[in-house]
Amino acid sequence: MNNQQLAQRDLKCLWHPCTQMKDHESLPLIPIKNGRGAWLYDFDGHRYLDAISSWWVNLFGHANDHINQRINAQMQQLEHCIFAGYTHQPAVDLAESLVAITPPGLERVFLADNGSSAVEVALKMSFHYWLNCGHGRKHRFVNLSNAYHGETLGALAVGDVPLYKNTYAPLLMEPITAPSPDCFGLSTEDACQANVQDKLNAMQQILEAHHDTVCAVIVEPLVQCAGGMRMYPPSYLTGLRDLCDEYQVHLIADEIAVGFGRTGTLFACEQAAISPDFMCLSKGLTGGYLPLSAVLTGENIYQAFYDDYTKLTAFLHSHSYTGNPLACTAALATLELFEKNDTLAANRKLAEHLRNTLAPYKTHPNVAEIRQTGLIAAVELQQAPGRPFDWRERRGRRVYEYGLKHELLIRPLGDVVYFMPPYVITPDEIEHMVHTAFAGINEAVR
Ligand SMILES: *Cc1c(COP(=O)(O)O)cnc(C)c1O
Repeated sequence: MNNQQLAQRDLKCLWHPCTQMKDHESLPLIPIKNGRGAWLYDFDGHRYLDAISSWWVNLFGHANDHINQRINAQMQQLEHCIFAGYTHQPAVDLAESLVAITPPGLERVFLADNGSSAVEVALKMSFHYWLNCGHGRKHRFVNLSNAYHGETLGALAVGDVPLYKNTYAPLLMEPITAPSPDCFGLSTEDACQANVQDKLNAMQQILEAHHDTVCAVIVEPLVQCAGGMRMYPPSYLTGLRDLCDEYQVHLIADEIAVGFGRTGTLFACEQAAISPDFMCLSKGLTGGYLPLSAVLTGENIYQAFYDDYTKLTAFLHSHSYTGNPLACTAALATLELFEKNDTLAANRKLAEHLRNTLAPYKTHPNVAEIRQTGLIAAVELQQAPGRPFDWRERRGRRVYEYGLKHELLIRPLGDVVYFMPPYVITPDEIEHMVHTAFAGINEAVR
């Protein structure tokens, strides 16, 4: 088997996510044979540094020995069983661990099997909580402009990225959208804080007008990832927590992308010293091994559903693979690696090296801004003055193609070239990643 043979078979029967399949008439599809650490290897003997953690899921490298061994052992015991009426040790161990490591007040864990489903669960739970408490008028959600929360219909509805949303708009419930506190283009700390205050004022006005019909505000803490890695400071979250308390609406923190050490702390909410009412986790949860997600919430919310069977108070949501033991075991193994390796301290060093490696490019003529939060860094490319952004130019795709030819997997979001590497990346590999990306940028903007 070589690359071309497998790609040809693929294109006759498969349909890939987030892809205009006709692109593959000119853009090669890359069949991956195996992975190790931060690298993926194809059938023709080329390798690719996985600078985006395979869509932000991989934390401790591909084919990680510890996770492999733990899943192998679990497989011999129990691969899966029904999770209604039955339970198993990996789920109990994982729930206890998640309660222990997440912010205080998150004491109950509901499992689902991907990020979008976790968002659906949080939305339904928030609505149903208010209903159970006699506040049936509350049925709407407040989101932020440029937000992304997944692509199933409920999750898509509370997102705000036109590329994913516009086509399906007729199918979606309508949220109330507050302006994002994103600090793009604000060069001083003062300007950024003034912007945060502005956006909190806008949120206050919305909640003042609509709190009696609003269940919850949903946000991506610190970084709006799919919206182009736009970043904002923790002070917004602190202010938002106060507003949600003041107006009696829930706060849903979607930490699906930023959780598990990405931003420098285990969870992004920690930097604002807040506890959300619901926290959604997925992606890095299993170290990039298996689909799994979790929604954490408080005992007070759980208790509002706890009643006799005859009333319709029980939370009604289920997936066939809820609580899959192999996925729970992968998650437990991932958490063990965090402890064993003092991952957060190691990540801070890697983040510093990434910052230093990017620094000389700040004055590059096509760079509008380089921003970074922990191990997420983004290069926002600049438009030629006076020319509006036209996504059909697809500079990002040209950077992507350059990467393919130079041992680098990156996948720019429009004009934003970003890095979100696995935590096992080395300083040398960080340099390869950054310098290759900029060589690609130079090609693309010519
Ligand atoms: C990826 C992502 C989701 C959706 O997760 P899926 O597993 O892809 O459904 C939701 N929210 C955020 C912030 C994400 O980055």
